[in-house]
Amino acid sequence: RSAEQAFVTLATNDNYARGAMVLGKSLRNHDTSKKLVALIGPEVSEPCQSVLRRIFDEVLVVDVLDSGDTARLAMMKRPELGVTLTKLHCWTLTHYSKCVFMDADTMVLSNIDELFDREELSASPDPGWPDCFNSGVFVFRPSEETYAKLLEYCSEHGSFDGGDQGVLNGFFSDWATADISRHLPFIYNLSSVAIYTYLPAFKQFGQNAKVVHFLGKNKPWSYTYDPKSTQISGNVSDATAHPSFLLDWWKLYSSTVVPALQ
Ligand code: UDP
Ligand code: MN
Repeated sequence: RSAEQAFVTLATNDNYARGAMVLGKSLRNHDTSKKLVALIGPEVSEPCQSVLRRIFDEVLVVDVLDSGDTARLAMMKRPELGVTLTKLHCWTLTHYSKCVFMDADTMVLSNIDELFDREELSASPDPGWPDCFNSGVFVFRPSEETYAKLLEYCSEHGSFDGGDQGVLNGFFSDWATADISRHLPFIYNLSSVAIYTYLPAFKQFGQNAKVVHFLGKNKPWSYTYDPKSTQISGNVSDATAHPSFLLDWWKLYSSTVVPALQ
């Protein structure tokens, strides 16, 4: 089997595609030696697809509705899980031996290739319920067998939170207790929730952060940015991340993605 390894992300629309572009650029800027793969939905526009193709080694259009029978059946049984089923598609990337999935609303702050030393399923604790892992960053092994089992789990049990995190925590249910090496340090999936609920810890450890995750309702692309003054406009006090991370995202976006989109 292939020895190749890849970072994988997902974008079903142009907004998340913009996030994926920034994520891909941030991985390249920190000299990853891994391949970059973007799974996209058919709704992503042609201009965005073409920018994604310049940043990523592989851009694959995934349409759950015209994919294999099991996926389509799962989709018909649980229509609300459309994006989730698209995310699970990453297990079909069997031309890679190991992958790290990253949400399109994440950005890396340093090289994180060392994550490939970990095994399936490795992830950081969720800040809201630390006995669950957050599914914004996780290490996995593509496998048709696991994919089939995940789809079966999905159509049988659905998702307790309505998204992929509920499905994956249900399926990999021994994550909290079985093997501490599958707990990634929190610095690989740092979200704002943690910054504001435990500020002293953020002050102590925040500078070690390797991945920032703009988890929650407000995404970086929900704000507007003035490249001249390099300021975010709008109400940043309810920002989904530390304002400096939000600014880092926008600086990368405006310096590398905006020119490519023009
Ligand atoms: N996603 C997508 N389209 C959507 C919603 C989600 O492509 O309409 C993908 C994208 O990769 C995103 C991930 O699914 O980062 C998880 O969703 P989100 O990050 O919004 O959830 P949160 O991390 O805020 O819980
Ligand atoms: Mn996310």
